Amino acid sequence: MQQIPVRTVSTTTAVGGKIHVRLTSGRFQNLRRIISGPLLLLYFALVWVQYEGQPWLLFDFASRRVTLFGTAMAWQDLSILAGLMIAGTCLLFFAAVGWGRVWCGFACPQSIWSWLFIRIETLTEGRAALRRREEGKPLQGQRLVRRVLKHLLWVLAALITALTFTGYFIPIRELFSQMANLEMGLTTLGWLITMTALTYLNAGLVREKICVHACPYARFQGVMFDDNTRTVSYDAARGEPRRGQADTSVRGDCVDCDLCVQVCPTGIDIRDGLQYECIDCGACIDACDAVMDKTGKPRGLIAFRSENQLAKQPSPLLRPRLLGYGAVLMITSLAVIYGFQDRSSLVLEVLRDRNTITWSNNRGELCNSYLVKVETVDRDMQGLSLSIDGPQGLYPVNTQPLTLSNGSTELTYALCNRNPDLPVRSEISFIVKAGETKVSKHSVFLLGVN
Ligand code: SF4
Ligand code: SF4
Repeated sequence: MQQIPVRTVSTTTAVGGKIHVRLTSGRFQNLRRIISGPLLLLYFALVWVQYEGQPWLLFDFASRRVTLFGTAMAWQDLSILAGLMIAGTCLLFFAAVGWGRVWCGFACPQSIWSWLFIRIETLTEGRAALRRREEGKPLQGQRLVRRVLKHLLWVLAALITALTFTGYFIPIRELFSQMANLEMGLTTLGWLITMTALTYLNAGLVREKICVHACPYARFQGVMFDDNTRTVSYDAARGEPRRGQADTSVRGDCVDCDLCVQVCPTGIDIRDGLQYECIDCGACIDACDAVMDKTGKPRGLIAFRSENQLAKQPSPLLRPRLLGYGAVLMITSLAVIYGFQDRSSLVLEVLRDRNTITWSNNRGELCNSYLVKVETVDRDMQGLSLSIDGPQGLYPVNTQPLTLSNGSTELTYALCNRNPDLPVRSEISFIVKAGETKVSKHSVFLLGVN
């Protein structure tokens, strides 16, 4: 297994410590757009698009509900979301074992927002070569105007991102109404400002430094990686020696144009070999393929290749580790689907009152008290009834009707015994019904023992 070398980021495209990324085009850039475009749209659509007056996704802390595409889930169903996250992690491991950091290059929010901010930079301040040339010159005139415009657009993009993120927890209409009426609480305001600042900083100012220095995924990538993992690699056997070699008869296919370095968002030179800063975005492949087309050489001087492929050794993609992660991914995905289908729209919790020792009523019968909590995912659920399934002689006293407030209720339920032959401990069940929906919860009735 190869160790990924730790090295200082090349400064070929960095001027004054800043990397000026040149935009390129090609099949991997198209693939990145096909993947990241819908993800970006989904991020906004989940909050801004409404279904029956509700956003597509809302985590409502006040009523302890999650609404997903019009389907309400109780807080207890958060395990389904946890399962979804586990399935997502398995997918990440599966992709990492197969193709390295493709998640980082094609789908990670940090990359998606960074590319968005790079586009805004190119739109306002011009192409990378111009920006590099002008770096260090006095900031005045048109250049100053363009710089200010860039930062304004970055802040606007960061603010829209932060508003949308907040909209996952507070309905976006409510948020706007709070803003318009100057009724926004300090916590929400502080959250919005922090999120805006973080987005502006991460995607605008520090970008690749997050991928290189802060992201833990870069650190454990070495563990996921083996000699058959296809990552972006330079074929030195074909490319070297580069142009500039005195003996032109032995020159390789690399014309030393430096384009692969100029398009790299982390500012590295992939010709130096495998580096942990590489996020497998494929930009250098596209840039180099275009050069190969122009020079009449076959494409693929830089390509997704494994160490074994580079060494002309057999390199199976399907291997036990990849298949293992694939199997775990399948199982967790099926468990999430099952959990989603099996969830109940009624939630019942029963707690035996441990503070009150089994007590006697005025007829001398022994009684137990229970705290019963009922929650409905569907706020309009009608006709709820509570009953007990247990031995003969147990009967309820002081019961209150099941009236829900904001989809939930909590009541004290007392059971007394008129059966002289009842054992010290009896198994009982609380049952809540609403139409066809029924849930039950097990508990015990104790005589004299608490
Ligand atoms: S070396 Fe190539 S694949 Fe790696 S980050 Fe740079 S441009 Fe992307
Ligand atoms: S883009 Fe290709 S040809 Fe140009 S320097 Fe990089 S590897 Fe060499």
